[in-house]
Amino acid sequence: MSFQEVRVRFAPSPTGYLHVGGARTALYNYLYAKKHGGKFILRVEDTDQARSTEESLKMVLEDLQWLGLKWDEGPHPSTLEAMGPFGPYKQSERLSIYKNVAEELLQKGAAYYCFLTDEEIDAQRALAKAQGRPPHVESPYESWSLEKSLAKIAEGGQAVVRFKTRALKKDYVLNDLIRGEVRFPSDMVGDFVLLRSGGMPVYNFCCAVDDHMMKISHVLRAEEHLPNTLRQMMIYEAMHWVTPAFGHLSLILDEDRQKLSKRKGATSCHEFKLEGYLPEALLNFVALLGWSHANGKEVLTMDEMISGFDLGRANPAGAIFDAVKLKWMNAQHLRNLPSAEIWKQIAPFLQNAGLELSSDPAWQEQSVDVFKSAMETLNDAVELYRPLSDKSFTIHDEASEVFTWESSKAVLAAWKELVEQENSEFMTEERFLKLQDLVKEKAQVKGKFLFMPIRVAVIGKPHGAELKILVPLMSKKSLLARVNQCLGKL
Ligand code: GLU
Repeated sequence: MSFQEVRVRFAPSPTGYLHVGGARTALYNYLYAKKHGGKFILRVEDTDQARSTEESLKMVLEDLQWLGLKWDEGPHPSTLEAMGPFGPYKQSERLSIYKNVAEELLQKGAAYYCFLTDEEIDAQRALAKAQGRPPHVESPYESWSLEKSLAKIAEGGQAVVRFKTRALKKDYVLNDLIRGEVRFPSDMVGDFVLLRSGGMPVYNFCCAVDDHMMKISHVLRAEEHLPNTLRQMMIYEAMHWVTPAFGHLSLILDEDRQKLSKRKGATSCHEFKLEGYLPEALLNFVALLGWSHANGKEVLTMDEMISGFDLGRANPAGAIFDAVKLKWMNAQHLRNLPSAEIWKQIAPFLQNAGLELSSDPAWQEQSVDVFKSAMETLNDAVELYRPLSDKSFTIHDEASEVFTWESSKAVLAAWKELVEQENSEFMTEERFLKLQDLVKEKAQVKGKFLFMPIRVAVIGKPHGAELKILVPLMSKKSLLARVNQCLGKL
């Protein structure tokens, strides 16, 4: 028996913002679904009550929406109500389902109630370690009959439900879609817990139950889940369920080939969003962490990623997260956008930085045309635009020397007079260069004695961005207000 339809899922445990590794897992599942005309399901794995919060869930959903990875089934992005025929999609709302399956496994004799205390388990582990054996739990309750266990529970006994592994003496063989054949000897794991003593199910159990009930055809997830896959295969076998296909994605490593960690820079999508990365660039970048397009192309649109997506081209070796490449990728995507769209994207960053800039769309587009080649992230716009914001204009300390030069007075006066005589609100680059020459003639100075005072009159400091680029973006009114402030210093 096999699956009729491609159904893949992203199954985050909501414990914080979406990590870039999670974004890649979500993306690969999304691409696979789109490529094969299947469904992309979002399932929330929130049975670890100590770590999962609704607030984190909302953060993850927001990050996925920002990335544009729309799910076909799952919690509704704002109401969290189940959307789709296999809900609820939050594991915390599916507890009775897991309880029933656990009951079935207990009845079949594939699972048992275990009354070992934590102290007894610790002692077993310590002994196993001392004897150089794997630290598997060897529960004396494995051989108890269900009746006997139930009687003990009726007397107040506290038990977890464990899956029986000791009789399964064989290798489990997985034909992983990415790594090929993976063999797991069954004794790699001991009798693992399905339900905790309060009745709360654990990840491996819920995951297998849900993947089956939600008719998941392909499970694409991180490599660190490989040992879980063995446990889940055991559950499928015991329940006589069809096992989905599995593909385990490569690890994502930092430049020192260590696991990507927060200490070395941003790792969550939210941080990249705040730093001014475009969702399409971040997706393109994470897509290439362990996969490549057949034609070698690196800057890809979502459509190109979907049509080119092929697990046969997924690389099982660890992928290096290269922050410099991400920046480059962002710059490529940014430059491909129309200027009006770039303005829309940078506007919140400019506003957050407190800059006050023209509301004229023509000015906005013109300014983007001027600055876009200098921007790698949206945040880079802030320093590029800062000199244009009248509100941010200040005369810096570095300018004080310029004010001590005798000739500066004549330069500033000539500059002011010439600007005043301008007919139009904005001047062109050529016109600015012409005015600079005219100041030179009038004030009879050259070199730094000419350029530095003009610079101070325009941007408040003697060094900085090129005036011929900035001045055409500054109104006559603004230029006059600035030179007047400077004249007031003399
Ligand atoms: N909830 C698991 C995690 O966040 C996902 C496991 C899976 O995809 O099976 O790592």
